Order: sequence, then structure tokens, then C-alpha cells
Amino acid sequence: MTEINIQAMALTFNPIPANYRKMSDDELTERINQKKRELGEKLVILTHHYQRRKIVALGDYKGDSYALSKIAAGLDAEIIAFCGVHFMAEAAEILSSDDQTVYLPNPLAGCPMADMAAIANVMYAWDQLKELVPDSKIIPIAYMNTAADLKAFCGKHDGLVCTSSNAPGAFEWGFERGDKIFFYPDEHLGRNTANKLGIARDQIAVWDFRKRKLGGNSPDKIKNAKVIIWKGYCHVHTTFTPDHVRMMRERFPDVRIVVHPECPEQVVELADANGSTAFIVKYVDEAPSGSTIAIGTEINLVDRMAHEYPDKKVMELSGNTCAMCVNMYRTTLNDLAWCLENLDDIKSIEVRQEIQEDSRKALSRMLDIAK
Ligand code: SF4
Repeated sequence: MTEINIQAMALTFNPIPANYRKMSDDELTERINQKKRELGEKLVILTHHYQRRKIVALGDYKGDSYALSKIAAGLDAEIIAFCGVHFMAEAAEILSSDDQTVYLPNPLAGCPMADMAAIANVMYAWDQLKELVPDSKIIPIAYMNTAADLKAFCGKHDGLVCTSSNAPGAFEWGFERGDKIFFYPDEHLGRNTANKLGIARDQIAVWDFRKRKLGGNSPDKIKNAKVIIWKGYCHVHTTFTPDHVRMMRERFPDVRIVVHPECPEQVVELADANGSTAFIVKYVDEAPSGSTIAIGTEINLVDRMAHEYPDKKVMELSGNTCAMCVNMYRTTLNDLAWCLENLDDIKSIEVRQEIQEDSRKALSRMLDIAK
């Protein structure tokens, strides 16, 4: 699919006014820069690593969800334009102060994995767990990729939030305080983290939220489990398979393979390294000139690094471009220009007061464990 076709698709489902859809990239870029000059230090644009290159180029900061949440927590700017997906902008809103306003330039940019855990289903699971193992202390851990009410659930029940940058530290934090960890929504990050900590396979239970009783587990399986993992997944990272790793090694015997821990465990096991997007960026940066590197993560990051490191051969692991997060790709220059020129009219990100406090508690615990 060409860049033009994908661009057209992104705009087709976008409710911004027609005049913004018709502007050229040069005009949009100039208008965005004009607003940046006008607003000066009042405005900060945060961009996730998976955003389009043209968006990242206009940002004040780029990073993964962990780095951006830390940055958001320390900003003074009145206006934060978050070029990412909804749960990230929501986390920035929770961590920012009352006199700051957070905008998501394309309000349709969500995360299908985050949507796989809904508060009603998590509470249903929690009630069953508490009934089955009333004497066990269960620590809930929410991946950053969750809605605010699910983060608040962790804040309320002595748990915390984690990202792929700090999941092992968060699990260790949990085991210092409890007997079992209940992690949602990504099965693969949960499993890869448990593997990293040496948890035995028979002590990992997967909770299928589509099943009525115990997420499809036997009572003994849950009683014996140290880690109970929600059966959610990222459709981008589960694109990668062990065959991709094998084929890449056949074609390029000296290739180094680095993947994100949202990939299936078989892929992670066959790779040379795995880690968050920040880890992947560092891995490429530190590889010697002339290296061949295949990456199992979202294509926009891989594409940007291929441009930024012309002295290295940087490729996407599957060998095609289907590993794209269409939600990250939704945010266009058109959205950002429209957002910045209409701040008074556009609805900002809001988190209900009753969940603000508990979700901030869970996010602050995450930021604290890194100190
Ligand atoms: S890459 Fe996957 S986890 Fe990240 S926002 Fe897209 S769908 Fe969600």
C-alpha cells in the first residue's frame, strides 16, 4: 500500500473540518510551526516513537510511553499536545497539574490491546480470585496500555502500573508485597516478564476474559499460580513469528535481532535481545557502524531509525510492512494543525475526579520504583 493511500485512509475516518484535510504538508507544517512560535513555552508537543516521521520532527520530546509519562509529570507548559494514543494522553492528564490541559490531536487514536481489558471484566475476575484464594495477597499490575479506571483499580488494591521498560521491576515490587501477581492486559509482556524472572511455566496462568469460570482455569491452576495474566495481545507485535527470525538469519547470517516484549515468547527466545522501544532505540544506536539489525516492532519506528542510521542496515523483522499500528498512524499533520489552531473549541482529555487519585497513586508507584 502506498503512503498516499494510507494517508487517504487515515483522513477518511477523520472528522476534522474539510479545509484542514485539503492543505498540503508544507502548509500544515508551517501553520504548526507558527502556533509553536506564538505559544512559546506554553505549549509542549510530546510524540511517541511509533508516530509518523513528520509528526516526530515537530515534537519537543519523543519517547516510549514510560519516558513520555515521566516527562509529562515534570512539565510546566499549560498545553500538552500528546501525539500518541488515548491511554497515553490520559496518563499525561493524570500526572499533570490542574492548570495544565492535555490534548490528543486525533481523538480516534485508541489501542485495541487496551480495549481488551474492561473494568467490569477485571472486577469480575478479581472477585473470583479473591473468593478462591482468600488468604493470598494478590497484587494487581496494569500495563500502561489500559484505561484510567483500570490503573485506578491497581491504585486502590495496593498495585501499580508498569510499562515494557520497567515490567520486571514492577513484578519484583509486587512479589515483595504479595503472593501472586494479577497482570493485565498483555499476555505476552506478562509471560516474557515472568520468564525473565524465572517463574516456572506451571506457575503462570492465563486468564481468558471470554470464559465465565476462572478465566478457563482449574481451581488448582489458579491456586498454584504465581502470575495470572490477562489474555490480551497487540496485533502489531504478534505479527512476528519464529519463522521470521529463522528466515532473517538465513538471509543475513550476521544479523542482530531485537524485538519488543509484546511479541510471542518463542520470538523473544530466538531473538538476540528484547526490550522496550527505548531499549530498541539504544540497541540500534550502540550497534557498530555496518551492523545489520532486524527489529520486531512497529514499522514507523523502524523506518525512522533506518533513516537516522544510514551507516547501518536497519530492517523490519517480518520483511514486509504489515507491522503497522494504524492507531498510532491516525495522527496526521492535519490533526495537529487543527488541534493547535482550535484549542478553545476542542475537548481536552478528561479523567473523572473519582478515579484521578487512585490512578495517580498507581502511576506514581511506577515512577518511584525507577528512582
Ligand atoms: S502498537 Fe499495539 S499496544 Fe501499541 S498502541 Fe498500537 S495496538 Fe496498542
